[in-house]
Amino acid sequence: MRLLILGPPGVGKGTQAKRVSVELGVPHIATGDILREAVRNGTETGKKAKAFMDSGALVPDAVVIGVFAERVAQADCRAGFLLDGFPRTLEQCTALDGCLTDLRAGLDSAINLTAPRAAIVERLEGRRLCRGCDASYHMKYLPPKRAGVCDRCGGQLYQRDDDHAATIVNRLDVYEKQTAPVIDFYRSKKVLKDVSSEGDVNAVFNGILAALGRAAK
Ligand code: AMP
Repeated sequence: MRLLILGPPGVGKGTQAKRVSVELGVPHIATGDILREAVRNGTETGKKAKAFMDSGALVPDAVVIGVFAERVAQADCRAGFLLDGFPRTLEQCTALDGCLTDLRAGLDSAINLTAPRAAIVERLEGRRLCRGCDASYHMKYLPPKRAGVCDRCGGQLYQRDDDHAATIVNRLDVYEKQTAPVIDFYRSKKVLKDVSSEGDVNAVFNGILAALGRAAK
């Protein structure tokens, strides 16, 4: 199965994409995760991407498309994949189309997760991640048992640099300006399914499964 999860930053794409990819048995490919790792490792790609990421801007298409193409060429993607945070521009849509043509495969579905802007800002501002295992918490809705410490692995929790208020507003503006045409592109192809991401994580997961025509868990 070849799937996309689309939606604004903070709508819960990453959390849901991880679960859906396990459920469907396909790799979860998040360009944001790959780019953050590249920045951490100080690679050439990381150096090109860092300033854009810090300001909440999109990383140039040439860089992101390269990252995507390299990952999707790996053997584990042959039977399918779930893309999270890619494509974000029409040029990236064209690159994905080209890749699917090469694979002689189609896109099965594009899930569009939606939530009101105020809810998204609150989610992003309160989000904390574990340095050790990447687990995600929320200061108000899913706090760790001990402040600043991961329940799962004891790692240190941190706030992403781009999860501070000023950058959040920029990321949401960028999303509305640059990524809205991507939603229209897949809607016009009749593969887009809107799923509300309000409600608890299980309810949203079941909403996605229902949109994919699969039984709820
Ligand atoms: P995310 O983790 O998906 O919110 O991505 C974090 C940051 O990585 C974004 O704000 C962008 O700077 C960059 N990024 C991730 N995916 C893309 C993409 N498909 N196109 C351009 N920039 C991206």
